[in-house]
Amino acid sequence: MLSVEQARDAVLARIGRLDPETVELLESLGCVLAVDVVSDIDVAPFDNSAMDGYAVRAADVAGAAPEAPIVLRVVDHIAAGRVSNVPVGPGEASRIMTGAPVPAGADSIVMVEHTESLENAGSTGGTVAIRAEARLGDHVRRAGEDVRVGETVLRAGEIVNPASIGLMAALGLAQVDVYRRPQVAIVSTGDELVGIGEKPGPGQIRNSNTYSLAAQVLAAGGVPCTLGIARDNEADTRALLSRAPEFDLMVTTGGVSMGDFDVVKDVLEQIGELDFWKVAMRPGAPQTYGTVGGTPFFGLPGNPTSTMVGFELFVRPAIRKMRGFAALDRPRTKAVLAEDVRKKADRRYYLRGVIEAVAADPANCAGSYTARLSGRQSSAMLTAMHHANCLISLPEGLSEVAAGTTVECIRLDMEEGTP
Ligand code: AMP
Ligand code: MG
Repeated sequence: MLSVEQARDAVLARIGRLDPETVELLESLGCVLAVDVVSDIDVAPFDNSAMDGYAVRAADVAGAAPEAPIVLRVVDHIAAGRVSNVPVGPGEASRIMTGAPVPAGADSIVMVEHTESLENAGSTGGTVAIRAEARLGDHVRRAGEDVRVGETVLRAGEIVNPASIGLMAALGLAQVDVYRRPQVAIVSTGDELVGIGEKPGPGQIRNSNTYSLAAQVLAAGGVPCTLGIARDNEADTRALLSRAPEFDLMVTTGGVSMGDFDVVKDVLEQIGELDFWKVAMRPGAPQTYGTVGGTPFFGLPGNPTSTMVGFELFVRPAIRKMRGFAALDRPRTKAVLAEDVRKKADRRYYLRGVIEAVAADPANCAGSYTARLSGRQSSAMLTAMHHANCLISLPEGLSEVAAGTTVECIRLDMEEGTP
């Protein structure tokens, strides 16, 4: 049997980053940038007002105060989007809105709150009382203040977030180069399976794995391609598995155990290459990894929770590697186990659990969290997985883990990069 780490390393050593592709700006959200983004403009593009108020010459309003207002003549009224061609001369001001270009002659903005419009309030030809001084440059956003022409604003390898999308939009990038999302083929195997819209007959169950897997692929940023159900015979299984080269990755569920009709391994040996098929873990010891026509292939066990845990430990990091991410694993948090657990000594256990913060104890980080089981731990049961926010990892070598032991939890509720 392989350890989880050996299996994972063997898998990841054979997985490479996919090529970049050009996508519409919004589609790049959550992807890894494949190129540096260099600005060909200044942001802000021109000096503009940060406030609704009056554009003035600071020297004109020196000494202005609530009890000693200075009256200026209003020569223009500038809305955002309009360039004023009326310069502000000595003793003059222009009414100006946030985002509007600062007119020639003016060097500062006085907020409207510190002014009182007198005759012809706010319009050209009127007058305004300024009740506060302005320091030179007050409330003026300078051209290039945020980004300079020629500046590298985003770097290859960064993960695109909503703010990066906004920045790239400001720079006029309608499209962007990111590492491609893998197309992941999903095949469920089993004579007992029926579609989720069907009523199972005697001995039949609905094919839930295709859906939990497709959802996991989506959540990992892959593109799920569901190929349907392969029945437990070589011909049927071969027909679907041999389609692997049409995709970047293929994931199957079921048919990799010791059952008489578990044919996935046999078929894989015929049409591809088989790497390993037993990992010292629970749930989900029988994990098959290989390649078909060069496409990486994961044969996950069929029990619904084994499928999902196998995906989490092996397939998800592979998808992230293909997408160009540097961080492949979810955050882990140490927690104090809340109950006694018995286990087989030769297996790593990944129990479905709930990790909770308790009263903060800065002196003892592990003491800040507890972890308890989220429900019954049969690998056939999905409810505990549904209630879990973590996988509690219990190491090989132990046959019991007592309440109070510090354990490591894989945070299913956190993405890489979250604190
Ligand atoms: P297997 O790994 O094929 O021996 O399947 C193990 C268990 O998982 C059996 O009880 C199967 O009925 C169940 N199972 C296999 N595939 C699926 C599936 N796609 N959806 C739900 N349960 C499944
Ligand atoms: Mg089966």
